[in-house]
Amino acid sequence: MAAEVLSGAGCTVTVYDRMPSPARKLLIAGRGGLNLTHSEPLARFVARYGAAAQRLKPIIEEFPPQALVAWAEGLGQPTFVGTSGRIFPKSLKASPLLRAWLARLAKQGVVLKTRHDWQGWDGTGALVFKHEGESVRVSPQATVLALGGASWPRLGSTGAWASVLRQRGVDVNPFKPANCGFTVEWSDPFRRFAGEPLKGIAITFDGATVRGEAMITVKGVEGGAIYALSATLRDGIEREGRATLTLDLRPEMREADLEARLTRPRGGDSLANFLRKTLALAPVAINLLRETHGAALAHDPHTLAHQIKALPLTLTGAAPIDRAISTAGGIALDALDENLMLRALPNVYAVGEMIDWEAPTGGYLLQATFATAVHAARAIVSNSAPSRPRR
Ligand SMILES: Cc1cc2nc3c(=O)[nH]c(=O)nc-3n(C[C@H](O)[C@H](O)[C@H](O)COP(=O)(O)OP(=O)(O)OC[C@H]3O[C@@H](n4cnc5c(N)ncnc54)[C@H](O)[C@@H]3O)c2cc1C
Repeated sequence: MAAEVLSGAGCTVTVYDRMPSPARKLLIAGRGGLNLTHSEPLARFVARYGAAAQRLKPIIEEFPPQALVAWAEGLGQPTFVGTSGRIFPKSLKASPLLRAWLARLAKQGVVLKTRHDWQGWDGTGALVFKHEGESVRVSPQATVLALGGASWPRLGSTGAWASVLRQRGVDVNPFKPANCGFTVEWSDPFRRFAGEPLKGIAITFDGATVRGEAMITVKGVEGGAIYALSATLRDGIEREGRATLTLDLRPEMREADLEARLTRPRGGDSLANFLRKTLALAPVAINLLRETHGAALAHDPHTLAHQIKALPLTLTGAAPIDRAISTAGGIALDALDENLMLRALPNVYAVGEMIDWEAPTGGYLLQATFATAVHAARAIVSNSAPSRPRR
């Protein structure tokens, strides 16, 4: 995105990527439909960035969700607003968008050099890349680092840049998994539900409740509703060693209504069959009740209704960062000036997930990534206006 803005303003731009092809993480995001951004009011949107909201506010306002939608539509990818308010391309894929985008960049003169692994700077201040066993040196007028976080390293972003920048005096906060799964000490029999979704549930932790879906994994839980609370869950585990959230398996029903249904005659049905028939609880949900309460799983309607509405689930750790959707930590916001230039390294800018901000899933990750890139690129254009290199 920075390359698009810079080349559009007449700058000569080369993009270097260590992978054989660009934007692999964007393509993987496309597997989930490519949630580009969100349609909620801007003030609520910006608040999603938590501690970084104040710093990101002017940057998102400069390139807000409507601008991102217009950009995607300009690349021939009409968008729609889903029932959750999330915005997706109608194609629900990243590949057509990426194809059109790369064609536009090429037309604007952007050169893409793949298999160039950035190592840092040499003694003269030139950027050094490893390319097919050789060292390649480049001395640009300005550098935009857009090297991503440390999740899903096989897609290219390994976070190896952190030590390079620390050596240069840049404050880089430790990486942490964000929008991640968590470990739960499941019993062996319950592990057979790995891959089964708990649909239409609500999860409460630390006063916040989120409705959505969670997925049972061999080692614990993951999925949208878990990701939405993952920052507070992760920090809670860091503080206390574990975190216990409360699952509501039937959030659309009041406890009293559940109890009334459970009071119906059960006939010869087993408890599992009865719960399936009267409350449409899936086998995974029924077995989760058994997993949690064991012999203490109530048969009387009053207690059972409460157990269904308030199932405690203890998380023992965050899943490893390489499986997280995104990364918290990274370049401290104070290490960047208002143009996103590194205070310790003049003419070097940082954008995207390298910077220490985090947000839930919902399009906030791509929106901030694109907006920071637009912001840095516009700053480079206006700061170098008199002596800007022209193609
Ligand atoms: C499974 C999955 C689904 C997702 N779905 C969504 C979604 O629907 N909506 C959303 O908003 N976000 C989503 N995200 C998050 C989103 O994809 C990222 O936040 C976004 O891609 C970050 O962009 P970035 O440019 O900062 O980093 P990246 O996309 O990680 O790009 C960094 C680039 O830098 C290159 N690189 C790294 N180190 C070097 C080096 N030393 N030398 C040269 N090149 C290097 C990498 O090869 C890579 O191409 C998803 C993430 C995952 C993993």
